[in-house]
Amino acid sequence: MQAIKGTRDLLPPETALWNRVEQTAQEVFTSYGFGEIRLPIFEATDLFARSIGLETDVVSKEMYTFVDRDETSVSLRPEATASVCRAYIEDGMQQLPQPVKLYTIGPMFRRERPQKGRYRQFYQIDAEVLGGSDAPGIDGELIEMVMTFFERLGLQGVQLEINSIGDKECRPKYVELLRAELRKVKDKLGPDSQRRMETNPLRVLDSKLENEQKLIEGMPHIADHLCEGCAENYLGVKRELELRGVKYGENWRLVRGLDYYSRTTFEITAKGLGSQNAVCGGGRYDGLMELLGGPPTQATGFAIGEDRLILSLQEIGKTPAPPRRDVYIAWMGTRVYATAIRAAKSLRAAGFSVELPPIEQKFGKALGQADKLGARYALILGDNEVSSGEWTVKTLADGTQQKLTEPQLLDFLRKL
Ligand code: AMP
Repeated sequence: MQAIKGTRDLLPPETALWNRVEQTAQEVFTSYGFGEIRLPIFEATDLFARSIGLETDVVSKEMYTFVDRDETSVSLRPEATASVCRAYIEDGMQQLPQPVKLYTIGPMFRRERPQKGRYRQFYQIDAEVLGGSDAPGIDGELIEMVMTFFERLGLQGVQLEINSIGDKECRPKYVELLRAELRKVKDKLGPDSQRRMETNPLRVLDSKLENEQKLIEGMPHIADHLCEGCAENYLGVKRELELRGVKYGENWRLVRGLDYYSRTTFEITAKGLGSQNAVCGGGRYDGLMELLGGPPTQATGFAIGEDRLILSLQEIGKTPAPPRRDVYIAWMGTRVYATAIRAAKSLRAAGFSVELPPIEQKFGKALGQADKLGARYALILGDNEVSSGEWTVKTLADGTQQKLTEPQLLDFLRKL
């Protein structure tokens, strides 16, 4: 049997790195006042259809959707923001002091073509700020937080790009202008862009096709078509980043694939990832909550691709040590086994990692095994040791041995 294409097993020691990343996220996000939300893995298909939009690739061809036994259509979640908003409305979070700051970590599912850094089950670390206002300070602090997180992890080659895509007042006018300009060069565009030009012209700006680049560069820039409120907001966000010492570049073609964004959008790339180099995407989505039947609620957030974050950390040599084993208990004799079990229990309770072989082995073989596992010490227990209460402790790095009582052994290990 094989795992399904685009899914994979995460194994030790790599999982230690996953844990460290998630723990660091929890620490950093907590210091910014975020609390954790845990969400269902599957939701009503309609939630994603309404929020992400029917014309997006994610909804139209990448979701894992099935009809449940009661005839309702459900989907594995392709992202977390829609669920966070549903929860905000359903759980009455508008009654709480605003804004509500939430993060969540878990698997997402999209039927994309698998390649390095792109999977069908992948993991996101997601943070959302819901309610309150659209003050640029909220976007500024959110971006500062993710940059702090990356810095804490030692991620390298981190680059932040920002843009504003306007709001429901100015964006439609720009989109029409863009569509009109694209239509003029329609014949020179590929089939994907020709289609997107009609369904969602902003997506054409995402195109990576070599022969379309020159044409796209000549298109009108949204920054020149923002309404007064959006222009002021964008300036405010840039000022916030400067105040916080966060370096950024501007990219007028950064529009994000999902439909519900407004105003600030941002993307962060990192080193060592090849073509799939985006580790985080985010932005403001003031219109989404209403779209889902909630009260008007300003909101902003980001999603980090955890798989890519880990890949990038591995590329720069941040590989975790194999599982630690402090003590390997080499025991011989049925009477001794009871003592070995008790010793393992008390050493583990004191916080040490202990390997207790379940079957009796000759001391030579046991010590070989201890070496292979990279244990630091072997505790040698035979009849003599149990009778005298003096245990033999061997330091595997240099082969030295000493005799210690149980309390002395604990002291000895603690001092290291
Ligand atoms: P999105 O939800 O599309 O804005 O994506 C946010 C981040 O999730 C991206 O910047 C990627 O790092 C990550 N991501 C999205 N799709 C995938 C995928 N299929 N495999 C791995 N990571 C992904």
